[in-house]
Amino acid sequence: MSDLTSNLEKLSGYLERFKSTGVSHHINGKNLWSKSRDTFQSISPVDESFICDVAKGGAEEIALAADAAKNAFPEWRDLTGIERKKILHKIADGIVARAEEIALCESWDTGQPIRFMAKAAIRGAENFRFFADRAPAARDGQSLPSPTLINVTTRVPIGPVGVITPWNTPFMLSTWKIAPALAAGCTVVHKPAELSPVTASILMEIAKEAGLPDGVWNLVNGIGEEAGKALCEHSDIKAIAFVGESRTGSQIMKQGADTLKRVHFELGGKNPVVVFDDADLDRALDAAIFMIYSLNGERCTSSSRLLVQDTIADTFEAKLIERVNAIKVGHPLDPATEVGPLIHTAHFNKVSSYFDIAKTDGATVAAGGARDGDIGFFVKPTLFTHATNDMRIAQEEIFGPVLTSIRFTDEDQALQMANDVNYGLTGYIWTNDLTRALRFSDKLEAGMIWVNSENVRHLPTPFGGVKASGIGRDGGDWSFEFYMEQKHIGFATGSHTIPKLGKL
Ligand code: NAD
Repeated sequence: MSDLTSNLEKLSGYLERFKSTGVSHHINGKNLWSKSRDTFQSISPVDESFICDVAKGGAEEIALAADAAKNAFPEWRDLTGIERKKILHKIADGIVARAEEIALCESWDTGQPIRFMAKAAIRGAENFRFFADRAPAARDGQSLPSPTLINVTTRVPIGPVGVITPWNTPFMLSTWKIAPALAAGCTVVHKPAELSPVTASILMEIAKEAGLPDGVWNLVNGIGEEAGKALCEHSDIKAIAFVGESRTGSQIMKQGADTLKRVHFELGGKNPVVVFDDADLDRALDAAIFMIYSLNGERCTSSSRLLVQDTIADTFEAKLIERVNAIKVGHPLDPATEVGPLIHTAHFNKVSSYFDIAKTDGATVAAGGARDGDIGFFVKPTLFTHATNDMRIAQEEIFGPVLTSIRFTDEDQALQMANDVNYGLTGYIWTNDLTRALRFSDKLEAGMIWVNSENVRHLPTPFGGVKASGIGRDGGDWSFEFYMEQKHIGFATGSHTIPKLGKL
């Protein structure tokens, strides 16, 4: 039996219950359907088949969930960090125990190849363990004494928070946002992406089995403009952690304005991979390919713009074409597959539209540039060459397995092009000249930069973007900065003179 056949058999076992019962909300420890009984359908991008019905929540369900999170907050806040740590580790254990189920369901629901989803599930567990271990120190502050006061700072959790996640690697991203919130002592209302709801529901089950008290973490499924909007507008929700498109971030800011929401945004990217002619070109080639064609190119940190020095461009692009044409597109549950189907018909149409846009704007379609097969939302891995930085394929986030190659002559021009976009999430620099690497990374407008490396995430480091790519950072202690308030308390030593008003 092939791995694909065996994966499909296992998947069908895992999905059976979702097919029959659907995916509900989970509010205050209970599975609930919307009062209106409204639902929407989750469809697999692999063959456009029905996966399950999903509860479609709105303002009413968000209000119930916010209420539950508000009521659960005092007890969760006051639990010791050590107790929170134990529960979060149990959630991590639960994820590991169900990693196969999570990976298969995520792959089927999103079209992401199983080879990456198996790792993403385990990374979800690591996220919980990382923040579990930090929970006991979350409230720690500083001592900042002055001559007359012993000043101390302490951190307190901000309160119930909203977490809104996208459909790309939805399981891993949900854990990345929710684990630090819980570790900090916040309670949560999670609104997952409507296009990939299945694994958020599994994660919720795991949390309940791990003994998380009712109301501490609530799940409301629904459409962004309805459930998501209501969450942003709710006055009991103190902050919104959002991962998604830049224009949605802007909407969320407006929606949260009346209640003065604190926001943390991880948004889109159009990230440059800059290859100088003195680089280790074989490694640079591997990294450039990995960072745009893995995860179907549906990845905020993808290196979607290749800036390549003109002295090596012909050779580098020729090798790229050969490799891109050899990428294995196929069924996401086949472990051999490197690129699976795009998430949805609308996204497939968006990505495909750039095939014509590239030609109209004068670029060359050097590889791919077409649909792959007749069923499902597959596109061929695509490479555009002879592009200029002002073209739409160089400026807009395509969010598919599509790379735009642009040539530069010298470092100044490379830097100017690298920065000449609205986005600023990541940058990748390939050179063996250390001074140039330092100079370039200092001037590159991006929140995260890797030199002679693909994106290798180290959880204590800050994650986030500049310009239209985001507001704020998470990772390490930065996550607690968002989910907690700094509090200053000054204890007078009694020796200073207090100004006297109203005394003659
Ligand atoms: P999206 O913005 O369409 O949706 C994200 C989430 O926001 C979904 O849950 C959606 O229902 C919700 N939403 C939509 N409209 C809303 C509204 N008005 N109010 C509240 N919630 C609303 O994004 P997507 O298409 O699901 O995800 C892809 C995008 O996410 C890409 O732009 C990608 O770059 C970005 N992304 C960024 C990072 C990062 O770390 N910077 C990580 C992953 C994805």
